[in-house]
Amino acid sequence: MSDKLYHECHEVISQGRAILEDLQQWGFESVMKLPDEEPVATVGQAQQGVLTPNTLAELEAGLSGCSLCSLSKQRKNIVFGAGNPQARLVLVGEAPGHEEDEKGYPFIGEAGKLLDKILLAMNLSREDVYICNVLKCHPPGNRDPQADEIAACEPFLKQQLALIQPELIVTLGRFAAQELLKTTKPIGKLRGQWHEYEGIPLMPTFHPAYLLRNPAGKRPVWEDMKQVMQRLSRN
Ligand code: SF4
Repeated sequence: MSDKLYHECHEVISQGRAILEDLQQWGFESVMKLPDEEPVATVGQAQQGVLTPNTLAELEAGLSGCSLCSLSKQRKNIVFGAGNPQARLVLVGEAPGHEEDEKGYPFIGEAGKLLDKILLAMNLSREDVYICNVLKCHPPGNRDPQADEIAACEPFLKQQLALIQPELIVTLGRFAAQELLKTTKPIGKLRGQWHEYEGIPLMPTFHPAYLLRNPAGKRPVWEDMKQVMQRLSRN
């Protein structure tokens, strides 16, 4: 929901409550029962973590119009994430690229098509998994995310993962692996082995965009994904 629509809805609800309260004072108790006021997530509350969302949709609505970091100034769309809210497997990338920014959807374009092929080979589709990024807004020129941007945005990823509660996480590329595992080890040393993020087994692997430039990386990625498939079939 856009900020404007949200505030308009809130205004209408407030006016409705005021009318009902007036009618109650005039003795119309029997025709109405005022509902207990529901806590309503405002953009500010959700951004400050004051209100804990119960669903991904609530979290996404609370993120609308986010301006917690400077990436908000140039983005076209917040790319929240997409897929199955009850996914057993969540894939986490770095940040939306240009095409994702245009469409508001994660992993489209050539890297996204390659990711779809990897999922297909695993006998999975986008409807089975959930795909998101550490940062929800596009860094200009695909530059590396900056520390203040990560600090501002990472809590939303944490909330996403807490709401989905996946059995497994796969990080795509160096940045997501290093960020979730709080390490500076290179991706070549991290991939291929199981790690843990807040109690959830995590497999780092190469980013599909890297595979487009370095096709030799496809074999190790497939080895990593075979480990993921084995674990999914065990659980
Ligand atoms: S990157 Fe995250 S914190 Fe920064 S403006 Fe976008 S949604 Fe908000």
